[in-house]
Amino acid sequence: MLANILQTLGLVLLGGATLVMLLMLAQYCRLVSLTGKTAAARLRLLEEKLQTLRGVRERQQSLPVAWNGIRKFRVDRKTPEPGGICSFYLVPNDGKVPLPSFQPGQFLTFRLDLDGKEIVRCYSLSDCHRPDHYRVSIKRVLAPREPAGLPPGKVSGHFHDSVNVGDILDVRAPSGEFAINPHDSGGLVLSGAGVGVTPVLSMLNAIIEEKARREVWFFYGVRNGSENMLKEQIRAWRAAAIPNVHFVVCYSDPDSSDRLGEDYDYAGRVGADLFQRLLPSANFDFYTCGPPPMMNGVRDGLAEWGVPESRVHDEAFMQVTKSVKVSASVDFKRTGKKVGIDGEIANLVKFAESEGVKIPTACWLGKCGTCMTALVEGKVKYSTKPTFDKLEKGCCLPCICVPDGNIVLDA
Ligand SMILES: Cc1cc2nc3c(=O)[nH]c(=O)nc-3n(C[C@H](O)[C@H](O)[C@H](O)COP(=O)(O)OP(=O)(O)OC[C@H]3O[C@@H](n4cnc5c(N)ncnc54)[C@H](O)[C@@H]3O)c2cc1C
Repeated sequence: MLANILQTLGLVLLGGATLVMLLMLAQYCRLVSLTGKTAAARLRLLEEKLQTLRGVRERQQSLPVAWNGIRKFRVDRKTPEPGGICSFYLVPNDGKVPLPSFQPGQFLTFRLDLDGKEIVRCYSLSDCHRPDHYRVSIKRVLAPREPAGLPPGKVSGHFHDSVNVGDILDVRAPSGEFAINPHDSGGLVLSGAGVGVTPVLSMLNAIIEEKARREVWFFYGVRNGSENMLKEQIRAWRAAAIPNVHFVVCYSDPDSSDRLGEDYDYAGRVGADLFQRLLPSANFDFYTCGPPPMMNGVRDGLAEWGVPESRVHDEAFMQVTKSVKVSASVDFKRTGKKVGIDGEIANLVKFAESEGVKIPTACWLGKCGTCMTALVEGKVKYSTKPTFDKLEKGCCLPCICVPDGNIVLDA
């Protein structure tokens, strides 16, 4: 009897143990198959990413390198945009395509001859690379309300009023440090206000066109719908539900026809407070372009939020000049003129101009190199760090520096 009970107990225990083992085996098999599936999915994603990167690299390697000096471009299309902006589509006059690649965010430098004088201006490329054309979008600069009597913007007005389809323009190759690689890792916050959207729009277009996987938050600020040059485009992108790209449209002064939640997402300006409300964390690279108060606000707000300075990038279209006290002599060697300074000056270009010495300049920000001049003797002090990447040894960028003691300039 006892033997029977023990035998039954043994059988039950054996059965139980077998059942537990079978359950564990099943669990193990499920795990192995899940891990296998996850690993396979990861592998597929990696392969896709590699394929995209290979494609991008091959495409870029097949593109010609940028040109030196001036290349002639023909205006192929001129399209008015909202907000007093006009887009110009430029094709190479020599017909040689594909066009050299550029980093999204870079700008073109135009040399014009207006009223017998050479004048140079920079305009950001507002689209990603296309093999057959470049695009720039230019806002007409109106005369400031104050002080009264100042003229409207010379070159922007010229582009709007006098540059037409078929016209030939002198253009220097894309350049600039405010740029991204769409295929780097890490999330991006791209913010642009008004016409300042152009370089970040180029970055966004590149991310979308090249199906890059970086997480992107795109903040776009304008006064209201009448100035929104991306209304249809953003609507189309939203409909395409691009999983890694988020759009936030801000109107600072919406009018009665603008619909919250449809035409725009926030009533107010683009700023770091909005980033803090919407972003999942501060772990992004921030690229901002807009009017100086907006960029200063973003910079200060991001610093308060603890974003390292190395992750904050901005592009100014205009220089905000602060004069500094200088006591020195400037010897303009080529002109044969030596003058003393004892007072405040904004920069060497303006000072030279006041002395009748012309130093050509374009960006007034130390970005484009138009004003690069040999510093034969002495030292200069910069108001902002030059970002022109081809600054030659023994030269300076007079648009953003003042003498630091007596100098001799090759001007
Ligand atoms: C890297 C970079 C990228 C840029 N990208 C773009 C872009 O994508 N789109 C765009 O629209 N712009 C862009 N800009 C700005 C552009 O280069 C020009 O600065 C802008 O078009 C104004 O040039 P303008 O000749 O029309 O105006 P300017 O004739 O230079 O006049 C500018 C302002 O100065 C005032 N002014 C004129 N004369 C005087 C005077 N004697 N004293 C005081 N004030 C005076 C004018 O009233 C006007 O308000 C960019 C600039 C840089 C540096």
